[in-house]
Amino acid sequence: MTALARPPRIGMFGGTFDPVHLGHLRSGVELCEALGLDRLHMIPAPQPPLRDRPQVSPEQRLALLKAGIGDTPGLIADDRELRRDGPSYSLLTLEALRGDYGNKARLIMALGQDAFLKLADWHQPEHLFELAHIVVMARPGYSPERSSALLELLAGREVNTVPALMALPHGRVLSVTLPSPMGISATEIRRRLANRDSVRYLLPEAVEREIEHQCLYRLS
Ligand code: ATP
Repeated sequence: MTALARPPRIGMFGGTFDPVHLGHLRSGVELCEALGLDRLHMIPAPQPPLRDRPQVSPEQRLALLKAGIGDTPGLIADDRELRRDGPSYSLLTLEALRGDYGNKARLIMALGQDAFLKLADWHQPEHLFELAHIVVMARPGYSPERSSALLELLAGREVNTVPALMALPHGRVLSVTLPSPMGISATEIRRRLANRDSVRYLLPEAVEREIEHQCLYRLS
């Protein structure tokens, strides 16, 4: 008798990545380990719906992401939102990933605590659960306090363990604290770069080199 194949476990980690930093990348690696993911698609948003348009182009942010990931096992720099017109709705991205991996795959949308707190303001947030689970990563400096709209959205969906999450292909929410939470933000990195302050060890050296080479994030 042949053993039944385990359904694939696929993560989606979207963001502005303006620029990608070690908070994103280390979280990605630790998330793969914690959830036993086969793959984590890191997907830059060209036009994030809920924030100002970034100054650095989507193509440049994707190039930085590729440089940051390098040959890290499990992490993929995925350009699918750059190939699509219109706002970067995660719902459309999850639909595409679901199409790629099929109905049995365990599809996980990963969010940091700050992004998760705004989930109720997203485009058709209740439909996200028809396609994916949501995994929330604790992020230093952000309170766990949830709005009533968010609590309503999550009602009956929360689980406390990875096996409970992976029992179903989609529809559940799990909060995790990864081993190495990092208080790094792209906002602080942009501020430092604009002031010509050091960003060493906040992002991979390959990303720092690329930013320097292309003179990105400078004021003048
Ligand atoms: P900005 O400061 O410009 O808002 P950011 O550092 O929050 O940027 P984003 O690209 O906006 O980075 O974030 C993409 C995703 O990564 C979000 O879900 C966010 O919560 C998560 N994230 C960002 N930084 C961290 C971190 N240090 N630890 C865990 N998750 C993070």
